[in-house]
Amino acid sequence: MRIKVIFLPSSIDFPNADKNKIRKIILNHAKKAAMVLRFRESEFTFTVYPWERDGVQAFTQAKDWVRITINPRQLAFKSKRASMIERLIYIVYHEMHHAARGYAGFLPKKKQHVLMNSILSEGLADIFAREQYPAKYVFKVTKYNFEQVKKWIPKLKKIKWGKEAFEDPWLMGGEGKPKKLGYQIGRYLVENVTKRHPRLRAVNLVHKDAREILRLGGVKV
Ligand SMILES: [Zn+2]
Repeated sequence: MRIKVIFLPSSIDFPNADKNKIRKIILNHAKKAAMVLRFRESEFTFTVYPWERDGVQAFTQAKDWVRITINPRQLAFKSKRASMIERLIYIVYHEMHHAARGYAGFLPKKKQHVLMNSILSEGLADIFAREQYPAKYVFKVTKYNFEQVKKWIPKLKKIKWGKEAFEDPWLMGGEGKPKKLGYQIGRYLVENVTKRHPRLRAVNLVHKDAREILRLGGVKV
């Protein structure tokens, strides 16, 4: 598989040394992720845009395209740099799992995002990042609040196979729901699968459908 990193031009740009570092980090970890995930695409592209949005953000646009935005001014700050680089590595594993699973912003053949699949895909991507890059930063950002998870899981019962709404509070939080609720639930549910079946890791679950993953976890949702 050929992996490319393309920097989108902007008037606020990264210094060349930073570009080289970002490219090296993405290629290094994306190659590792692609290998363990047995990625099938022949081409894969990361676009990187120097955006003044906070920190490092990413989105899997399509099955072979991940968009990353990095704040170049923040990256230049010594106090922020190390954690931004850790976040970039975490993001590469997280998004590569989405891409390999076919869980992207754009779905072909009029497919729709189903809420339960989105929750589990986020959980899988985070547990995959933990397995492949078990750094302190990754464990910190993939924690969940068990009390919150326990409280909200029963409320998913009737809606879990429904369509995911635009900016669904079930995923991101808001409208009375805790921050990143769906991510937290997803991490808990996938963790249960790997606890009950120690031989199953997030990499083995990449192509399993949501119903099968729920069944393997044994948690009643
Ligand atoms: Zn994600």
